[in-house]
Amino acid sequence: MIPYGRQNIDDDDVASVKEVLASDWLTTGPKVKEFEDAVADYVGAKYAVAVSSGTAALHTAAFALGIGSGDDVVVPSMTFVSTANSVVFLGGNPVFADVSAGDLLIDAGSLEHKMTSDTKAVIAVDYAGQPCDYDRIRDVAERNEVPLMADASHSLGAVYKDRRVGSICDITAFSFHPVKHITTGEGGMIVTDNPRYAERARRFRNHGISADRAEREKAATWEYDMVDLGFNYRLTDLQSALGISQLKKLDSWIARRNDIAGKYDEAFSKSRVVEPLVRSPEVIHAYHLYVVKLPLESMGVPRETLFKELRGKDIGVNVHYMPVHMHSYYMNRFGTSRGLCPVAEDAYERIISLPLYPSMSDEQSSRVISTVEDTVGEYTA
Ligand SMILES: *Cc1c(COP(=O)(O)O)cnc(C)c1O
Repeated sequence: MIPYGRQNIDDDDVASVKEVLASDWLTTGPKVKEFEDAVADYVGAKYAVAVSSGTAALHTAAFALGIGSGDDVVVPSMTFVSTANSVVFLGGNPVFADVSAGDLLIDAGSLEHKMTSDTKAVIAVDYAGQPCDYDRIRDVAERNEVPLMADASHSLGAVYKDRRVGSICDITAFSFHPVKHITTGEGGMIVTDNPRYAERARRFRNHGISADRAEREKAATWEYDMVDLGFNYRLTDLQSALGISQLKKLDSWIARRNDIAGKYDEAFSKSRVVEPLVRSPEVIHAYHLYVVKLPLESMGVPRETLFKELRGKDIGVNVHYMPVHMHSYYMNRFGTSRGLCPVAEDAYERIISLPLYPSMSDEQSSRVISTVEDTVGEYTA
């Protein structure tokens, strides 16, 4: 099976982790700071705070912004559930905006429509690795005087009009899950230029306690003060060492992802059996996912049939995502229902993610193309 994504671990990565295992600090040590500095430097942000997952990064970022009980936060419905969940964790209400049909990124018109005097923040999602249209999204957030957060779980390394993702929004969250661009096993990071957000984030990942263990040791004191209700969301030094080593390879991996995506684009623009998502000329796409739309009307069979056949032919296709507002939890707890975000709902019926990861061989990407063309072609002929 060619999976839809997979990690890349080499001898340097293994050596970095081994070194930490033999050191004095397994967690809250120097590697965490080194990883934070490396990511901040890479994306062009002043502060970075490492946490234990992408979901923890979103939760921590939403806390840093001050999201609390009863606050409305606008999120796109075409995303992984944890974007919206991060608002619910804090007692807030996610308000679902629809996406644009071509690129499945949050639609500025729908966003504008969902903003009210109760809106406390906006979370944009760089779906598939393509940065949102940040000039327009930022304009809506600024006119409504609310902060803009990015769920950049798909877009580490992406660029929007010469600005690296992580330096565009008020606060940005990344994930280092193994299918993402770089991995720490599980892990995540928040980046921001705002010192107050960074301080709140640092406390939140450590139970809401105002000084960490290293600082207390340096000051030779046992005292600590818990000022917020935080969590243990700390990333270990083992994981940070892996992240530091992985980050060095990020640019070459993004280049490779773009090569493979370019090859898919070219093949599908000729054969036209499937429709790739629209890519803006103003971005460097990070291609976490390569998503195509199936020609459902001319196929006469549901997407599920194609999905199963492709899986049967060892092409590890996937579907990202069922719109969040269609999940039972959201329907039961927040009363969301079909019809709330029609573009996302329609897209959901026809999208399929094709395998894409840096270590994929040319032979494998050719096999994906020919299998998709043959399989879809059979139903549309
Ligand atoms: C992966 C992902 C997350 C969550 O990241 P974890 O590290 O798995 O917790 C959140 N949002 C999006 C869009 C993601 O793809």
